[in-house]
Amino acid sequence: MDFATRAIHAGQDADPTTGATIVPIYATSTYTQTAVGEHKGFDYSRVSNPTRLSLETQLAALEEARHCVAFGSGLGAESAITSLLSAGDHVVVSDDTYGGTYRLFTRVLDRFGLESTFVDMTDLAAVREAIRPNTKMFWLETPTNPMLRIIDIAAIAALRTNGELVVVDNTFCTPYFQSPLALGADIAVYSATKYIGGHSDVIGGAAITNDDGIAENLRFLGKTLGATLGPFDAFLITRGAKTLALRMREHEHNAHAIAHFLTERDDVSEVFYPGLASHPQHELARKQMRGFGGIISLTLRGPESRALEVAKRTKLFSLAESLGGVESLINHPARMTHGSIPKEERDRRGITDGLLRLSVGIESASDLIADLRQALDATIALAGVTANGADAGVGDPDRIPATQNEGAPTA
Ligand SMILES: *Cc1c(COP(=O)(O)O)cnc(C)c1O
Repeated sequence: MDFATRAIHAGQDADPTTGATIVPIYATSTYTQTAVGEHKGFDYSRVSNPTRLSLETQLAALEEARHCVAFGSGLGAESAITSLLSAGDHVVVSDDTYGGTYRLFTRVLDRFGLESTFVDMTDLAAVREAIRPNTKMFWLETPTNPMLRIIDIAAIAALRTNGELVVVDNTFCTPYFQSPLALGADIAVYSATKYIGGHSDVIGGAAITNDDGIAENLRFLGKTLGATLGPFDAFLITRGAKTLALRMREHEHNAHAIAHFLTERDDVSEVFYPGLASHPQHELARKQMRGFGGIISLTLRGPESRALEVAKRTKLFSLAESLGGVESLINHPARMTHGSIPKEERDRRGITDGLLRLSVGIESASDLIADLRQALDATIALAGVTANGADAGVGDPDRIPATQNEGAPTA
């Protein structure tokens, strides 16, 4: 069955007791047993719950994978996955990863004796150099956040020397645009809070794998660490995930239009979007992904105050953390999502004070462009250029030239 069909039908059988077409919210902590140890497969909802099980079946099917374990948040899933490791183990982590992942490795797991090295994983030689005898895991996110760089999942998987687990945070692409397990990863991890849920109304996470042993360990860790997903939240995520294919197509369509609009403006110095031919890894993106997603980052010309002003002036793009909902969001990574990363480390990664990240929603593309245009035009005096016109200051050889649309690959 195709993706869109699986999204709507997998795990969504009519309720066996009532015939309810939609899987009910099983709001129960416990289950009545007919005799000691005799029950219908559920005994306590931290361990399993029918509404959550329905979501797990649905998400595993979207990935065409054997197992999904749902968690109370993306970081709940990350906590369980990293708890597969022990003190003294070492992890090679992509240096351009979600701020919360960075915080987990550097402020919690390090205290438990888990070692981690952050490297630019677009540089395979650097990854190879970072591997130690005690390396047990590669942790990566692609496209990276917020710089939208592309890491070659298959090439990283091929660097394994010693059974290291390859974990890919696939939150940005979702299984609609990218299949980490098929590219050689052992675990795909999601913040279901983002595109999978899709409506900015729920927090959740998931870990997906084809490995029976990993799945069993993750279930054990889920029940032991307790970052469980509740049935109400599981219901919302399932409802959202049914329209994932439709939404991802629309997010991408709008993101293409906006990325091209931005590349044509002189007051925007850089546009980061893997769908642009000017993206340094555009070819790898085309090879590895079935689409380029809905996240764009851009560097504005002018001081930080201009970036803050633009973020304040957009009306359809709400100023908020998070991403992946139907509504468009704008975010200043240096002060918001990536504020917990030290400034010198941020600057090294390109998360400068003039950087903005857009989560392009599924409103009309022309309305979104008009909204960005008014916010950029209103602050243009700070940019040192004239509106949509010639450079008012010195020429900038770094400016990425306008590029033509490469055409969205079919999903
Ligand atoms: C949001 C996010 C997370 C964390 O997920 P939560 O559901 O907020 O815990 C992890 N990775 C990426 C890429 C994210 O965007």
